[in-house]
Amino acid sequence: MADQRRFVIVGGGLAGAKGAEALRERGFTGGIVLLGSEQHLPYERPPLSKDYLKTGEGLDDAFVHDAQWYAAHDVEVRTGSTVTAIDRAAREVVTADGGRTAYDRLLLATGSSPRTLALPGHDLGGVLSLRTIEDSDRIRALMQPGARLVFIGGGWIGLEVASAAREAGADVVVLESLELPLVRVLGPRVAQVFADLHRERGVDLRTSVTIEGIEGDDGAASGVRLSDGSVVPADAVVVGIGAAPNTALAEAAGLAVDNGVTADAVGRTSDPDIFVAGDLANVEHPFFGHRVRVEHWANALNQPDVVAAEMLDQDGPEPELPYFFTDQYDLGMEYHGLGGPDDDVVVRGSLADREFVAFWLRDGRVVAGMNVNVWDVGDAIKALIRSRAVVDRDQLADPGVALAALVG
Ligand code: NAP
Repeated sequence: MADQRRFVIVGGGLAGAKGAEALRERGFTGGIVLLGSEQHLPYERPPLSKDYLKTGEGLDDAFVHDAQWYAAHDVEVRTGSTVTAIDRAAREVVTADGGRTAYDRLLLATGSSPRTLALPGHDLGGVLSLRTIEDSDRIRALMQPGARLVFIGGGWIGLEVASAAREAGADVVVLESLELPLVRVLGPRVAQVFADLHRERGVDLRTSVTIEGIEGDDGAASGVRLSDGSVVPADAVVVGIGAAPNTALAEAAGLAVDNGVTADAVGRTSDPDIFVAGDLANVEHPFFGHRVRVEHWANALNQPDVVAAEMLDQDGPEPELPYFFTDQYDLGMEYHGLGGPDDDVVVRGSLADREFVAFWLRDGRVVAGMNVNVWDVGDAIKALIRSRAVVDRDQLADPGVALAALVG
């Protein structure tokens, strides 16, 4: 007999879709309703700042599943449906049209939104951010030869889109508030690799700048004003200054929120029938022993299965280590683990040739590893991190020593 319960998923992104998939794969036969505010079926976002941005092709591959899959798996997807409240007492979610949908268990996967620039001119025409398919289409249309594109923020969005824009022949200026792009994630030595790469490709990368506002002409952005009084001329401005978790619903419903919705290692929030996954989820990570909130694609891909297992009172898989990747020009990179800018960095290979593996060490143990234009080392990096082995720095830097030999 079919399970009589209904599980509702709020959030039509990758984490929401993977949650529905995991519930079905784990044998749940009850109702699943997935509510998403975008008009599209759930899709993956990495192509939006990479291949799809460059070519406008391959969108079909970005969708997590097609409509037939949801029908075949009896997942009711309501696109264009924004949840405005969670009525925990009634165990219902309320949508913008006033409708109410009852749940037995609820998965929140509302993701994050681009931070907006709190400066004059932020709302002028031609000031863009990147989150959705439509955003990616708008930015692609602007990436014309000779167009002057100014990027505010040299993070992952800024650098990936800047590389695509340069390849399309646009003039690119990247404005970064810190002394190097990505320095907070990678530390100065490895961040310099990305700064050099972009400058070699003709990006005017300006660091340690403070932005005062965006200037406009007839309602459209015409330049970015810096604190030294200069104005960087712009035909369009792309803002990539980070993302903020969409916690408003959870907060209004009285769930515990602290840098995202807080949860235990299996995604259970302060309400035992409400779970969380993806960008929104600040969960206890059993490996690190503290809460971790990860905004990268792989987390939205993998975490929902851990959470779905718990929603079904089953034993789930061990949470993965954080992972992300980037493609910029001819540089391809993968990153495993969770390092910080103050960790000790050991490099195996050549930073100058941009062919290396960098390791971040804390107390002599590898906490993160990043392979740049070096492939098939991910499993070895993960094993090294998970081993917590104290490693010899010289051996770690020596490409002649197998990483597996360093696992204690
Ligand atoms: P991000 O990677 O956090 O980078 C934002 C950058 O902008 C930071 O370096 C930040 O410096 C800087 N910044 C902040 N305020 C600024 C200001 N007023 N003027 C100039 N610079 C400023 O965020 P993002 O690039 O916007 O990406 C959004 C989210 O999508 C992130 O979670 C990101 O990880 C994710 N994403 C991931 C990938 C990937 O995995 N390959 C690709 C695209 C996007 P501070 O550190 O000082 O704030």
